[in-house]
Amino acid sequence: MARQAAAVAPSEIEDSGTKRKAETVATRTSKRTRKTVTTTEVPNGDVIVEAAPVRKRETPVKADEGLAETFAEAPSARKRKPRVKVEEETVKSTKIAVVDGESGTTEIQVKRKRQRKQKEEDLTPLAERTVDSKLRVGAHVSIAGGLHNAVTNLVHIGSNAFALFLKSQRKWENPPINTEHADLFIEACKQHSIEPGTCCLPHGSYLVNLAHPDEARKKQAYKSFHDDLTRCHRLGIKLYNFHPGNSNACGREEGIRLIAENINQAHQDPKTGDVMPVLETMATLGNTIGGTFQDLADIIKLVEDKTRIGVCLDTCHVFAAGYDLRTPETFVSVMKEFDEIIGLKYLKALHVNDSKAPLASYRDLHARIGTGYLGLRAFHNLVNDERLHGLPMILETPIEVDDGTGKKVEDKSIWAREIKMLESLVGMDVESEHFKKWEKELADEGAGERERIGEQVERKKKKDAEKMAPKKRKSKKKVEIDEEDEEDSA
Ligand SMILES: [Zn+2]
Ligand SMILES: [Zn+2]
Repeated sequence: MARQAAAVAPSEIEDSGTKRKAETVATRTSKRTRKTVTTTEVPNGDVIVEAAPVRKRETPVKADEGLAETFAEAPSARKRKPRVKVEEETVKSTKIAVVDGESGTTEIQVKRKRQRKQKEEDLTPLAERTVDSKLRVGAHVSIAGGLHNAVTNLVHIGSNAFALFLKSQRKWENPPINTEHADLFIEACKQHSIEPGTCCLPHGSYLVNLAHPDEARKKQAYKSFHDDLTRCHRLGIKLYNFHPGNSNACGREEGIRLIAENINQAHQDPKTGDVMPVLETMATLGNTIGGTFQDLADIIKLVEDKTRIGVCLDTCHVFAAGYDLRTPETFVSVMKEFDEIIGLKYLKALHVNDSKAPLASYRDLHARIGTGYLGLRAFHNLVNDERLHGLPMILETPIEVDDGTGKKVEDKSIWAREIKMLESLVGMDVESEHFKKWEKELADEGAGERERIGEQVERKKKKDAEKMAPKKRKSKKKVEIDEEDEEDSA
């Protein structure tokens, strides 16, 4: 890796001993370039696409490159060819054409075997980790190949915070933690001066619904939740983010009671240490609990140990749920509302995502920072609120790009760039040419997607209004829009 020394950030050069160890960790992952894609259909017909990361050789971002230049050069950087091919292997590839259920088109899933040249990944940092930022920004990284790879992956993109799944997020199994990987994780954190206690925010399984009243389902959900908390404890992680639950089967009040009951039960078990469950704000209303600040406040009210409960504010979700963060005034008022209803002391983390869907659309569609309906100004508001400094800020923005041949691949340089961008927004003058240029470029980049989703939302609204017109339906049906969660491609 010496050939890339020129692109290595100064801090990494100083810390060459650490870097060598990181490379050792990196080589462990290099055999895992196989891509698998699975889809999950959600009730509204939309399809969640989950792709195990395909590591692509990427060009490191030089530490001395200006941010604007980095930003401008990005598209060409994405197209650069891999320089190293190590082996050839037969892989099972799942090709998918997925389209939005709302547009009426169908999904096709084709499985086939093919020969593919496996590329050695290059984990030379795309960006150095900023050492003096007031923020702790990072992204949801992959644990493919073992938990410890999360550290390699976060260093790769210059993260100072990170999220990860502790086990497969779409399976009910709770296999015992791999102790070798767990030890490597802890060791790698130490090597990179990463405190998992303050900057790591694992994301809970999407299957778990702590608001389910059925005994068997309740037990299964609790088991997975509890298991995750014990994993956090084992790894030195103190925060654990999860979707509060869905009260479809029992109603809001009972759902909230059940969630709190599960949290209280987990608190009482010493195996969970002092890990803090963190409730995520949700994009939808109706049976989804967490679409309003009041939902979360009501759960917290019933939690006995108030020192071990927190909230994670997802900028995309709250915006989709009707909380406007776009102007300095509306931002202040939303934060005030949060403080009055929940209490700012419970705010422990943020998911930082733009939204492809408009305000109060109740759609959970993450967009890249500045390209969605929130826009760059909203994120300027966010990072300049000193009360949020030091909290983990996790990007869950989509990073899939076309590789030039029509194939979708992950481009992690997008996260590397977004991290630097958010950090640089602290104290930036919004009247400056620099800010205005960025704001416009990003808004232009997302214009097509905003228009597409905006039209969908409008159509749906009209449809719903027509449905409602002849006779009154149950209000539950009207409001409920099942969540489409695009956040979990990590
Ligand atoms: Zn989430
Ligand atoms: Zn989401």
